[in-house]
This record gives sequence, C-alpha cells and structure tokens, in this order.
Amino acid sequence: MTSDGLVTAHLRHVLEDSLADTSGERATDVPQLADADPDLFGIALATLDGHVHAVGDVDVRATLQSLSKPFAYALAVADLGVDEVRRHVDVEPSGEPFDAISISPTTDRPRNPMINAGALAATSLVRGADPDERAERVRALCSGLAGRELDVDEDAAAAELESGQRNRAIAHLLLAHGRLGVDDPEDAVRAYVRQCALLVDVRDLAVMAATLAGGGVNPLTGRRVLETWVVRHVLSVMLTCGMYDAAGDWVATVGLPAKSGISGGLMAAVPAELGVAAWSPRLDPHGRSVRGLAAVRRLSAEMDLHTLHVHRGGRPPVRSSTTLADSPSSRERGPEDAARLARDGHRSLVLALHGDVLFAAAERVVRAVEESQEGLEAVVVDLRAVDEVVPAAARLLRALPRALPGGGRRVFVVDPAGLLDGALSTQGSRDDGAGGDDDGGPVVVGDVDEALAAAEDRVLGRADAPRAQGDAEVDGGAPRP
Ligand code: GLN
Repeated sequence: MTSDGLVTAHLRHVLEDSLADTSGERATDVPQLADADPDLFGIALATLDGHVHAVGDVDVRATLQSLSKPFAYALAVADLGVDEVRRHVDVEPSGEPFDAISISPTTDRPRNPMINAGALAATSLVRGADPDERAERVRALCSGLAGRELDVDEDAAAAELESGQRNRAIAHLLLAHGRLGVDDPEDAVRAYVRQCALLVDVRDLAVMAATLAGGGVNPLTGRRVLETWVVRHVLSVMLTCGMYDAAGDWVATVGLPAKSGISGGLMAAVPAELGVAAWSPRLDPHGRSVRGLAAVRRLSAEMDLHTLHVHRGGRPPVRSSTTLADSPSSRERGPEDAARLARDGHRSLVLALHGDVLFAAAERVVRAVEESQEGLEAVVVDLRAVDEVVPAAARLLRALPRALPGGGRRVFVVDPAGLLDGALSTQGSRDDGAGGDDDGGPVVVGDVDEALAAAEDRVLGRADAPRAQGDAEVDGGAPRP
C-alpha cells in the first residue's frame, strides 16, 4: 500500500473506527444481496476537479438498488418538467418504510420519489417505447453520472423481477390511482428492477454524488449530464426524503442531500464542493447501511459539510466603493475639463465587486446608487473580479439604470467575461420582466478605463457614450439638465 495523503488518511481513520461495528443485517430480498460479504466496507470522496480519494473495499461492485431512484427521477423531471412529474409523485417526506404499499390519502399520490411507490411512478414516466428502452435510458444517465459505462447485473434483475411482489402490488395501486405513466404495471416493475440492478463500486457512487454536487457536470469527464434546474430539484428531494424516516434528524445533524440503498451503499452530495459515498452491506431497520451512515455522519461533522452551515455570512460583495474623483481614467483632459472633474468628479460611484454576485450583492449595488442619488451623474460597476453573476442578480443590475435619473447611458458595467449577458440568457431568467424595460440596460464595456472615461464624459455633460458590447446599450438616457 502506498502511503495515504492527508485526506485519504482521514477517510481511512473513519473507516477503521467503524470496522468494529458489526451490527445490522444484510438485505435478503435477492441472493445477490443475501450472499454479499457482510464485512466489506469502502469509503470514497470525489472532488469537483475530478480527484477520487478511496479507502477500504473500493473495487467491489454491488447493485445500485434505491440509489438509482434519484437518477430515474431526474430523468423523468428532465423529460417532463417538475410540474408534470409532481402530478404523479409528491415531494413530501413519508415517515413510512421505503417499500410501503401506500399512496397519500390527502394528495392521492405517492409521497415522494425516494420510496418505492414514488420511484415506480417516476420510472414509468421516463420517456421510452417500452420498459427496456426506459431502463436503458436510466442506465445511460447513470453511466454519464459515474463517468463510465455501467452494466446491469442480469441475475439480480431477474431475481428481483421474480420475487418483487410488493413492488408489483405498489404498481397496481399506482395504476388504480392514475399515477403510472404506462398502462401495464408490469412494465413499470420491469424497468425499475433493471435500474436497481446496475452495478457500481463506492468510487462510482462518490463520482455520481459529485456530479450532482457540481450541478450536473461530471467531474471526471467534464460532460454535462443533467441541467442545473433538474439537479436542484433532485437534491432538494434527496435532502428531505433520501434517508426515509427521521428526515428531520438527518437534515438537522448531517445536513446533506443523500440516498441509501439496500445493497449497503450511501451517497451524499455537498453542493459546489464534493461527493462522498460509503458502502457496507449490514443494514439498520430502515434498510440503510449501519457503517455507511456512521461514516457519512462523521465526515459531515469533521469536514464541516452541512449545507446549511453559514461559513462566511455577510462578507461584503462590494470590494471597493469610490468616485471618479478618486479613480480617474487615464484620459488626457484639457485644463477646463480637468478643473470640472476635480469639482464634480465626486458626483459618481465606482463600485468594484468580487466573488459570486448573488441577489444580495446586486441589492447592495442598487441601494448604494439609490442612497446617493442626489446629484449622481454616472455609475461604474466593475465586475472584473467577479466569478459568477446569478440570474436574479443580473436582472437587478440590468435594471440599475432605473435607479438613476438619466437611465442606461449613465450606468457602465465593466464585464469583459460577459457574465451579465451569460446570466441573462440562462433558462427562465427573463421570465419576470425585470429586464427589457423601456429604461434600457446599462452600457456594458470590456475595459475599465473606457468605462471610467465614458463616466467622466457624463459628468462633463458629454453625450457620446462608448460603443457597447453586443446590444446592451439601449438609448434610455434623458438629455442632461
Ligand atoms: N430493489 C429494492 C426494492 O425495490 C430497492 C430498495 C432499497 O434499496 N431501499 O425493494
């Protein structure tokens, strides 16, 4: 064995601490589960730049079982949209065993897609001519998430098809309540047992979780396999419903979207950070891996992974706030203009942002403009040190000219990477009509000196704004008084 790096050593420590725990029982549903070596135990952690730390029994493959549920659900949501899928499956924690033959009497739907009732409904909604095609599409998606082609354990699939009377009963119940996407309950069961029989090892599980954590981009292949809005929805359901009963305790103590399966696998996604997985066959009474649970609980605590932990609340998004008097352009000015800029340069705002511009950052910018509106002639918002602008923030920044008399031709956004336009072209981001108003958007330029010079021209009462990039410049500027 080569010597471990620090992070791998941490995983090994967690693994060794839990080895002594031999409580719980293997699943007995099919021989492939009942015959598993109960002492096997592996832990893996996959980063978003594609490194996998793994310890223990990392190369043993086992069937996905319920770990396939979030992925089949994701495919149904990607195919049909959240609303259509929710007409068949709700998103409420159930507090029931995963294989309960039940439908909510209040909503007349299965309670969520992480229990068998909801999973069978979700799988039946996946597009495909027949169960094999639906199962093949789930297999292809799971392969994309794992970063390698996954195989079906045909014996496990056949055994579960043979013994799966509870799932058959559930599928018939779903049909009776109009919650199945196919006419024949047997079709739903057929596709479902194939997704449950996909073979993975603990590294695959960690990479699959990391793909969710990365918003749908596989960290090994760099390929986008799910859209971000689908991932957001699936992670939400995993957070509240993925661990079956005791959902409140899971969110409060571990705080990670996660999923378990009766083969002993458990995966958890840490959004924008990493994926973790553990695998060991002995299960607690809810069908969750005893050691897997202990490992993920511990890693969450020791690595500060709880998604609702506030790591740096209130870091100011505005890195610096000056005026043209303090931050002049390099343009040569004649004595008269120089004197006027010296006198009036403070009637401007130059705001430099950094990091990720979320809604609150854009709110801060708009408020800064609104609060200093008296006599304000020009605003420069510098996005050069910004990594990402979320659509809600981009819409607010685009509407910024409305906060200033004189409109778009007085507001300059330095955005060489095109973050604003990129965010505004994101799906669904234009829906609320915050942009596209008759005030026009700001003037977007690539170069900060160009923006400062143009802002100075505004203070000097010159009308000639620079040429905007793309079509961002809209004439909304009233003549200067
Ligand atoms: N194939 C299993 C079943 O349908 C999956 C259950 C699980 O992993 N929780 O019963």
